[in-house]
Amino acid sequence: MTQLAFLGSGIMGLPMSLNLIAAGYRLAVYNRTAEKAHRAVAAGATHAQTPRAAAEGAEAVIVMVTGPEAVDELLAGPDGVLAGLAPGAALVNMSTVSPAYARSLGARLAAEGIPYLDAPVSGSKKPAEEGTLVVLAGGEGELIERLEPMFLALGKRVVACGDVGRGSEMKMAVNLLLGIMMGGLCEAFEFGAACGIDRELLLETFLAGPLNCGLFELKREMLLAGDYPPQFPYKHMTKDIRFALQTADAAGAAVPLGHALFQLYREGIGRGLGDADLAALQRVLRLRGDAAQRTKE
Ligand code: NAP
Repeated sequence: MTQLAFLGSGIMGLPMSLNLIAAGYRLAVYNRTAEKAHRAVAAGATHAQTPRAAAEGAEAVIVMVTGPEAVDELLAGPDGVLAGLAPGAALVNMSTVSPAYARSLGARLAAEGIPYLDAPVSGSKKPAEEGTLVVLAGGEGELIERLEPMFLALGKRVVACGDVGRGSEMKMAVNLLLGIMMGGLCEAFEFGAACGIDRELLLETFLAGPLNCGLFELKREMLLAGDYPPQFPYKHMTKDIRFALQTADAAGAAVPLGHALFQLYREGIGRGLGDADLAALQRVLRLRGDAAQRTKE
């Protein structure tokens, strides 16, 4: 049985660690807020007091936290992962980070001879629970192959994207599309509702035709209720669009929709929606609609 360390017990990290335990891996878990790791411990994981203690004895260390700052915090220092990593053990960052960060971390680790994969995921809370994520792996093909059985305990498919950084580039492309689709759904929905079309009928009609997709099904109830329990937190989508814009700038890609969306998402952060689901973009559009209406009165 392979010994792994899993760092991060958030919306994604907890169900992912539970799936690894269910698949028979021995897991040491660490989360900054220890209570959030309790369910994994109850399911059979060992609780580590520090990232270093989690890493000690692990063949691979998986990190699933907010972004680059959180990853850096877990790796560095006397209690950090790097202080406890055994020779030959691999580091797998599954958090969404910018490709530039993924590459600079890859270079730092390569200089120390530490095998590394940049492996963010496509899929949200439900696919994480169901073990149907898509793993977007960047790094050496041999290492991706070696860790594939572990990835397949978390997801239904592993996409080998190329070198370190390519996994994050693929993730940026996926999340740019996700952000645009979510923006399109919210805008069209609020437009129809403002015209006076019944809200249920609107969504039924969207879903009845060729526009139907898993994302729209997933967000249906949230849009009808105007309530957004977090599956993919709004603040993370905003972070990812920022990374996508930086990446587009470096690559010379035109992303006008991405720029417009970033303004909208950022507005929502200012309105305190950061911890809500990304579907809370609907609220931003409704508030803008209400304000436009008032200027006409
Ligand atoms: P989350 O529920 O907000 O959890 C964030 C995790 O990061 C928590 O374990 C948190 O620890 C930890 N963390 C934050 N700052 C830290 C720091 N400075 N030092 C140490 N740990 C820190 O987020 P999530 O939804 O699980 O997302 C995790 C990653 O997956 C993100 O990169 C996100 O973009 C990506 N992702 C999310 C989804 C989704 O649908 N939710 C889908 C695909 C990819 P505490 O518990 O102590 O706060």
